[in-house]
This record gives sequence, C-alpha cells and structure tokens, in this order.
Amino acid sequence: MKVAIVTGASRGIGKACALRLAKDGYTTVINYSRSEEEARKVLAEIESEGGSGMLCRADVSNLDEVKKMMRDVSKAYGQIDVLVNNAGIVRDEYLLMLNPDTLDRCIDLNVKGYFYCAQQAVLKMFRRKQGVVVNMSSVSGILALAGQSVYSATKGAVNSMTQTMAKELAPYGIRVNAVAPGFIETEMLDALPEEKKKEYLDAIPMHRLGKPEEVAGIVSMLVSDTCAYMTGQILTLDGGISL
Ligand code: NAP
Repeated sequence: MKVAIVTGASRGIGKACALRLAKDGYTTVINYSRSEEEARKVLAEIESEGGSGMLCRADVSNLDEVKKMMRDVSKAYGQIDVLVNNAGIVRDEYLLMLNPDTLDRCIDLNVKGYFYCAQQAVLKMFRRKQGVVVNMSSVSGILALAGQSVYSATKGAVNSMTQTMAKELAPYGIRVNAVAPGFIETEMLDALPEEKKKEYLDAIPMHRLGKPEEVAGIVSMLVSDTCAYMTGQILTLDGGISL
C-alpha cells in the first residue's frame, strides 16, 4: 500500500490529482477546508472505481489543523508516501490598491500552508527514508503578470522552497519537485474578467486552456519511479505561453 495526500482536492487540479493517484493505486487522502460535499463526491468516485481513501478537513494555513491531519492519516494507514501541496488561492490586486488582508491570506495559504504540510508530512516520511513531495506552483512564479505581484511572489516562493527542500531532503530519500501550470480550466479562472481571459488565450500558442487532468498526469509521473533520479525541478505545463 502507498498513501498519497492531496491538499485542496475537493475540486479543480487537486481533484484531478486525487483521482489520478487513486487510479495509479494510491490510497488517497482528500483534503479540503470548506467544500465537504464536493470532497465526499471525489471519494465516492474513487471508491466506485475500486480505489480507497479518506477525507481530511483541514485549513492548511493553520498549523494545528495540519498537524492533526497528518496524525489522523498516520493513525489510519501508518505511513505517508506522497504529499501533493496543491491548495492555493489567487487574488489579483494591483500594488497601489493592495489590501493588507489579501497579502496576509495569500502568504498564509500559498506559502506558510505549503511549509506546514511539507514539514509535517516529511516528519512522517524521513524515518522510512522514502517519500515524494510535489508542490503546485504556477507560471506566474516565473512570468510577470501585471496585477499578480502577490500571487507571483507566493509562487516564486514555492519554486525556491522546492529547490531548497530538495537539497535538504535528498539524504533522507525524499524527492521534492514542482509543477508550474499555465492557465488551467478550473473555478479559479472563473474570477478573471472575460477580456483578461481572451488576452491570456491569445498569448497561448496552443490557443487553449490546459485541463486539470493534464496537470494530474505530470504529478503522476513525478511521484513515480520514472522520476526516481529527479529532484528540485520545476516542470512548466502551459501550452507554450509567453506573456
Ligand atoms: P480551485 O479550483 O480554486 O480549488 C482550490 C482547492 O483548494 C479547493 O479544493 C479548495 O477547497 C482548496 N482550498 C482552498 N483554501 C484551502 C485551505 N485553506 N485549506 C485547504 N484547502 C483549501 O483551484 P485550482 O485552480 O484547482 O488551483 C489549485 C492549485 O493550482 C493552486 O495552488 C493554484 O495556485 C495552482 N494553479 C492553478 C492554475 C489555474 O489556472 N487554475 C494555474 C496555475 C497554478 P475548499 O473549497 O474546501 O476550501
């Protein structure tokens, strides 16, 4: 048995990762913070296809809740093999109009939340000298999009924490990589005004949005032995975008 935790797995990219890892044979932990109904449906879909897993409600920006989630998973299964650090939010605000609450929330969730989950999962992995962490980054961590300085900064942080964690954890047999998707068809994009969506679509050479399942495919590859010699990498998946 191998156990994978996917944070923010009630919908979007996290849901696709949970379904894919379950298909790959992982016992899958579906984390969510508010959308219990949607999370239940993800678990039901996994079970209807012969897979198994559990739900874990935890706000990943709250260290106590993250600790409890990792304890509950360890109690249930005795091990954690994979963490997909995926739960995140986007809040577009220009610097001159930036609300300090936006700054705090994005950093709490997209940066501190990733550290909390990685640290607490790795504490359960390192004695067995094996484990894989995949951090969900974004092309926004590499490209500069006006209005996204906070989101971009958080994803830039995800990229650098990935590279540093990879070096720290390699001696313990734990690999850490990141996926940096471009524009993927999820509810997160619904918040964008139509003219912004068109502008982004025009900048994508493949002229289409990515699918959550395409991101999940890369995550599936990264956690597999195909990538056994790969750590500290940031894989971009963006239809060739250049903004
Ligand atoms: P989404 O559709 O908005 O889904 C976000 C997920 O995160 C939901 O399951 C949500 O569940 C969960 N979540 C939110 N706050 C949470 C918290 N405090 N604790 C635990 N779970 C929480 O987003 P998405 O588009 O799938 O994005 C997923 C990741 O991919 C994010 O890190 C995002 O930055 C990254 N990404 C997305 C795109 C894109 O175009 N969509 C592109 C690049 C990178 P609840 O409702 O239960 O809170």
